[in-house]
Amino acid sequence: MVTNEDHAETVVTGDANCPLPMAHDRFEEAHWFLHQMMDTYHHPAIFRYSTNAFLSALKAVAEMLRTEMKANGHEVWVGQMFERFKADPVLLKFNNSRNIVIHHRSLLHGSRIETGLFRGRKLKLASRIDVDHDADSGDILSFIQSKWLGSMLDEGHSALNEQLGVRRTYLVSEISENEDVFTASNRAWSRISSVLSEAHSLLSSSFPAISEADRQAHDVDHINLLLEMDIDPGALERWGWLEE
Ligand SMILES: [Zn+2]
Ligand SMILES: [Zn+2]
Repeated sequence: MVTNEDHAETVVTGDANCPLPMAHDRFEEAHWFLHQMMDTYHHPAIFRYSTNAFLSALKAVAEMLRTEMKANGHEVWVGQMFERFKADPVLLKFNNSRNIVIHHRSLLHGSRIETGLFRGRKLKLASRIDVDHDADSGDILSFIQSKWLGSMLDEGHSALNEQLGVRRTYLVSEISENEDVFTASNRAWSRISSVLSEAHSLLSSSFPAISEADRQAHDVDHINLLLEMDIDPGALERWGWLEE
């Protein structure tokens, strides 16, 4: 059983009564890799590995549905499922006939980094310093600290809620033309959950679809910004921000 403290969705694995054990298992695996993407977001090299693992698990859900639904006599439904993927711009990308693999170069080309002084989560003053898109956000943040602390920002952080940070966004056209890699991945995963849910119903079982609108659990805005306080747990106390 996989549970995530920060959200309500609970995935039960190994349900003996599941009529689609292989498809369901790959769906849960994709969910696990989605969380790996969140956990590794600020480390581009392993974020890319996590993304590729997610893509392969998600694609396998459809392949397993093909096998398992056919075995249950739902060949027509399988044909309709693939037609539906073709008509859906999101799922079309994720269920391409060839496997999508995000290569090092395309992730770096499509990587946007905002660094500078943040007030709350809002970028107040952007740094113009060139940073290496290959680098972990923590290293970029240390670099900005070495340039800005003591000049653009006082070491004691006397202005409440103002600190240095790094926000990154990954945009890769193989995945989506208009959404970042993580948001588009979550969207595709939610849509596949509806297909999996429908397949369960057809086999007199039930599996609730995951709402695409509810981004709370998998919201890129909760993970894309790394602030000084995130890498320095004692900072809030030292800056005196806890007393306010
Ligand atoms: Zn199931
Ligand atoms: Zn989750």
